[in-house]
Amino acid sequence: MRSSLTGVGRARAVAAFVLPVVLALGASPVLAGSAAPALSGEEVVPDRQPSTAQDGVALLRVVVPDQAAVDRLNALGVDLAEYRRAVDDGIEVHAVLSPGEARELRGKGFDVRDAVPNQAGFAANQAERRIAMSAAATAAQRDDTLTPLRAEWFTSTDDRRFLSVEVKSSATDAETVLTATWDSGPGTPPGSGGTATLSRFTDAGQYMYHRFDYPLPVTQAPARVTVRSSRGGSVTVPVTKWLGERRTPPGRHYVSDFVDHYMDPTEVTRRITGLAAEFPRITQVVDLPYRTNGYRRAAQAQFGTAPASTFHVTSTAYGSQGGNDVSLALTRPETASALKVSVTGKDVVVGLATDASGAITSTARQVVEALNADPAASALLRASTYRGDRGDGLVAAAPATRLTDGLKAPQSVSREPFQMKALRIGAKRDGSRVGVFLYCQEHAREWVTPLVCVETAERLLRNYAHDPRTRKIIDDLDIFVLPTANPDGAHYSFYDYNMQRKNMTNHCPARSADPASRNSWGVDLNRNFSVGSLFDGYSGASSDCTSAVFAGPAELSEPEDRNQVWLTRKYPNIRFAMNTHSYGGYFMWPPGSYKEAGRETLPRVDLGTENYFWEASRHILSAVQERRGTAIWPGRTGPVPDVLYSAAGNSADEHWYNRGIIGWDFEVGADLYDAATGRFQPVGFQPPFTEGHEEAMEFSGGQIAILEVARAYANDRRRPDSELKVTGRDDSSATFTFTTDEPANVYYTLDGSRPTLNSRKLVSSGVREGAQRITVNRTTEVHWFSVDVAGNVERGYRPGGTDRNYRSQRVEVRGNR
Ligand SMILES: [Zn+2]
Repeated sequence: MRSSLTGVGRARAVAAFVLPVVLALGASPVLAGSAAPALSGEEVVPDRQPSTAQDGVALLRVVVPDQAAVDRLNALGVDLAEYRRAVDDGIEVHAVLSPGEARELRGKGFDVRDAVPNQAGFAANQAERRIAMSAAATAAQRDDTLTPLRAEWFTSTDDRRFLSVEVKSSATDAETVLTATWDSGPGTPPGSGGTATLSRFTDAGQYMYHRFDYPLPVTQAPARVTVRSSRGGSVTVPVTKWLGERRTPPGRHYVSDFVDHYMDPTEVTRRITGLAAEFPRITQVVDLPYRTNGYRRAAQAQFGTAPASTFHVTSTAYGSQGGNDVSLALTRPETASALKVSVTGKDVVVGLATDASGAITSTARQVVEALNADPAASALLRASTYRGDRGDGLVAAAPATRLTDGLKAPQSVSREPFQMKALRIGAKRDGSRVGVFLYCQEHAREWVTPLVCVETAERLLRNYAHDPRTRKIIDDLDIFVLPTANPDGAHYSFYDYNMQRKNMTNHCPARSADPASRNSWGVDLNRNFSVGSLFDGYSGASSDCTSAVFAGPAELSEPEDRNQVWLTRKYPNIRFAMNTHSYGGYFMWPPGSYKEAGRETLPRVDLGTENYFWEASRHILSAVQERRGTAIWPGRTGPVPDVLYSAAGNSADEHWYNRGIIGWDFEVGADLYDAATGRFQPVGFQPPFTEGHEEAMEFSGGQIAILEVARAYANDRRRPDSELKVTGRDDSSATFTFTTDEPANVYYTLDGSRPTLNSRKLVSSGVREGAQRITVNRTTEVHWFSVDVAGNVERGYRPGGTDRNYRSQRVEVRGNR
């Protein structure tokens, strides 16, 4: 009776099969209580729910005798698959059925069989699908945008080739992995050169960009590199050549190489005064007004072994001024005595307190207090317990001990405040020439750096008479060379503690001024300046007097730094400064520091200036490369915080932000490539002189190239030219940017007004990225002009005037003309 369903029943059955959604939505069971003969409410209602519980709905095989039976299934509203095939006893069709529906059909005589096997694993499929879907959803979120920052190849060390790549992902998390693949030159297959994973560069907890930790050695110069992200992003960019700028070789009689040993500050200062005497027509010595504290220390002695019983004394006079003559003895009287201090000349004797048995009862604290309370003794020395200890331990007797400043330099090194001297070089030293300030050895242990400054001065002076290029430099510029910006610390580094970085001035309180702390005293002179300083809340300096980056008690507390400020104020024609440090091979510029919270840097230089710095760096670093092929890496070129760290209160920032002086930093001593291991090796502060000498030669070349850059700036009368370039357009907007034929800033208006220096300035779209793109959503008349770093304005336009010879172009937006 396969056709026994009544019309009413059929209608109800159809309703039952097509209503599950309604039922699932909680509507009252439409069919409940109906009179349908074959379909009871409870069979229909609960069991076919497209909700969370699938209740066994399955794709079941149904075998019917003929097409008429298939038609009946359709008429019943059975959810049939389109699939059918002939079987021995008829036609097999597949129906989506709940158990109740299956029972019902069976009740109607249909041959409902088993489930289609591959459809059985609903739960497993569902789980699999959930996983896949969530992965897909995450992938959609993850798909990142890659911004190429730099992709360069260069040669270094024995003409080996290296590849450097920097790419920024819009995904900032640590799971994002970027992989670079490159070819072997023009026309070669992508990937034929090699592949490598980039490192994630973070600073102060903030993602910066991805890069190679070290440039990768490559056999062929790649033409293109593709970077792919694990998040799905991908970008392909051309690989450009870094450095290797062709420079005119020096004249045939150009002389160089004037240093043959590491020189202490006394020697380098004598050297430049000697040069001034030899070349009086084109030089003069500038005595900087603030004397240093001097290569000198108070004399000290320490008594005791355990912290509680230990104390130290420090002479009130410097060792060289009598402190070294003071002595202290701790005696134990034979009979019971009270603590007693006596002074004869510069010899201090403490009679320790003893009890009836002759045992000492004086504690370290009692001795300290007695010494400091005695007028005659405290005129000679001050006493202190050990590093803040209470000093409750008993003191032992000790023979007379001479206090000493411990300084080991020969007497030829003065113990008096040091007269810092700069050598001023220039044919016309009347302030009319662009000034350049070259200074070296702010950090004492960087022994190569004063050699760089001395070599530069010698090259300039000894080639002036016969080398035309040198003559132009000296004729057109006003050069100030300060070979050692930290003479006291440097003397200490040469004779006492070679790793001394700071100056020698001890700002520590007595409790952290014990003799064993002597190598930790001093102020980091490159953290004591007044811009972006520790005192302003910037990062990379310390208030701890024993820290390697101690900022000092206040901004510009140190005479060495006040001298730098004095020089740049006294000679306002100074437009460029180069602060030469070691080591690592860096070329850097402001900003040099940031606030830790949010990594907020000092204001970044504007786009035109940044581009100018990059262009200058190519010239300067190509000169460094001339000596022995050393390339300063692109990854070690740029604003200090982009490539190194934050250095609160450094001198380049002082010069740039306070006086508009372009303040650059060198770190001489680039890592050396070891072909045997395929690794770069750092050179350190005091490499063997053969290496230090090479570094001095190559970076003196760099300093002279800075002078060439400064001279080009001084003589730059060429006006920049610019173009507006539309980079994208759709129905409702247009995007454009500007290009300039030399580094220059672009000022523009979008409202049809006359552009001035107060108009919008084209900015960078991000750290190490190019110019921003400007989007307008209506047809816009853009007015603009460009200004180069030397102040030349495009077309001679006067931004403060009234003439209208600025640049102008209409940017069309479709449907809006
Ligand atoms: Zn340094």
